[in-house]
Amino acid sequence: MNGNCVRDVVIVGGGTAGWMTAAALSRLLPGGYRLRLVESDEISTIGVGEATIPNIRNYNHALGIDEDDFIRNTQGTFKLGIEFVDWKNSGESYFHGFGKIGRDLGALKFYQYWLKLHQAGEAPDLGEFSINTLAPRHAKFMRDVQSVPDSPVADIGYAFHFDAGLYARYLRRYSEARGVVRIEGKIVATCLRAEDGFIEAVVMESGDRIAGDLFVDCSGMAGLLIEKALHTGFEDWSHWLPCNHAIAVPCESVDPLLPYTRSTARAAGWQWRIPLQHRIGNGHVFSSDFMDPKTAEEILMRNLDGKPLASPRHIRFTTGKRKKGWNKNCVAIGLSGGFLEPLESTSIHLIQTAIARLVEFFPDKTFDRAEIDAFNAQVDFEYESIRDFLILHYKLNERKDSAFWAYCRDMEIPVTLQGKIDLFQSHGRTVRTGEELFTDVSWVQVMHGQGLRPRSYHPLVDQRSNDEVRKFVTDVQAVIRKCVDVMPTHAEFIRKHCAAL
Ligand code: FAD
Repeated sequence: MNGNCVRDVVIVGGGTAGWMTAAALSRLLPGGYRLRLVESDEISTIGVGEATIPNIRNYNHALGIDEDDFIRNTQGTFKLGIEFVDWKNSGESYFHGFGKIGRDLGALKFYQYWLKLHQAGEAPDLGEFSINTLAPRHAKFMRDVQSVPDSPVADIGYAFHFDAGLYARYLRRYSEARGVVRIEGKIVATCLRAEDGFIEAVVMESGDRIAGDLFVDCSGMAGLLIEKALHTGFEDWSHWLPCNHAIAVPCESVDPLLPYTRSTARAAGWQWRIPLQHRIGNGHVFSSDFMDPKTAEEILMRNLDGKPLASPRHIRFTTGKRKKGWNKNCVAIGLSGGFLEPLESTSIHLIQTAIARLVEFFPDKTFDRAEIDAFNAQVDFEYESIRDFLILHYKLNERKDSAFWAYCRDMEIPVTLQGKIDLFQSHGRTVRTGEELFTDVSWVQVMHGQGLRPRSYHPLVDQRSNDEVRKFVTDVQAVIRKCVDVMPTHAEFIRKHCAAL
């Protein structure tokens, strides 16, 4: 290593973000780096964050983590998607499944053929055409199907639910086994270099000084380094995503073990249900501008499937992101970098991509401005595109029951989102820009589920006769049904492969 190399990396915080970062850097950085993680047992982690999206499997793969071992150690379950209940209107629900819808034919997506039949009043529910939306209705799950490449089961997309505390412990064991040093204690001050304001060291309550070349701020919403020390600034998106308060409570499990997250709309927000092996995680996300916390807590406690296992915990948040994810020699990862409500379970994914980006742009001591700008531009794009997808769910509601839903329906939305809505309304088309996280399959399911209807379908669908289109769609439906029939239940699958220790 030459003298210009960054050698000393200090990670501040030992929640999901801190330990994911520590684990990844311990695996991905070649030898010669000193990795230290500072956390305080006195300052608890946020303790929620238990549903993920399929990309987390890339993280596990990059770290060489065995999936079954990971599930066993975190009381994990599998997740095929999210059910949205009462979001469009009370009494209506739809599924946002991972994986594919139907199969493409010629140059066109399956959705376009289905759309033609739908507009003629002949199409079964869209949820019938994906393993990821049909299997959940029967509480079924299966993976490892590469051996049957032509089967739609091979297209199954899945993620996990897990216990956040156990997950952090699992990654801590992984990291410490690879040389990460954990320092226990509270940070009380940050020393900045006089000449350029870069972080020189953090100071512990004990008086110890921990110096470093690069600081990764994983201190949660406190934003200890990125905000309190560097005053980076925060872009507030509450006018588009007005929820600002969550109440979380675990409850006893009930049968069947569902392989999906459920999100149920409430009068001023929504409630999550995340099934784990040993309990169900629940939470009510709402706007305190439209509902008082006491009422919100009552609603949550009234709507649990099993007996509560702890007292409800209140968490306040502001939706938005730090003006710069990377400022000077500090990179914010996790809640210190920003927060988008957990409607599509994207925060852990944002941790993962920030880590990947940090490795890609890993600095030397010059901390080149162009590289930092490129990192920040990517973070901004990613946050904004996920933000738009979340706003979509709220904007397209047809609920008549509260001022909250009326506000969401009437609010101005970002032009980027309006463009996507206009495009879809024309001929059911979607365009994925750059490295946007959510694919056309996601956008179509939520737009359709929330009641947005295209005026027409892709003109090239008419190259095929009506009978041909009808037969194609019916065949796809039959194949998917057959696959789901032979799948084991989610509970059976877990019992066989990865029941908790
Ligand atoms: P934290 O967990 O808050 O950790 C902060 C760490 O910093 C702690 O270890 C603490 O000890 C340390 N620290 C702070 N100050 C000091 C100090 N002065 N000295 C020393 N140490 C300090 N994400 C998902 O992907 N899926 C979900 O389903 C999901 N649900 C969520 C629901 C809610 C209501 C909320 C609020 C978030 C949810 N998230 C979800 C987000 C997810 O919880 C976080 O992204 C994730 O837990 C990362 O948190 P963190 O590590 O950044 O912060």
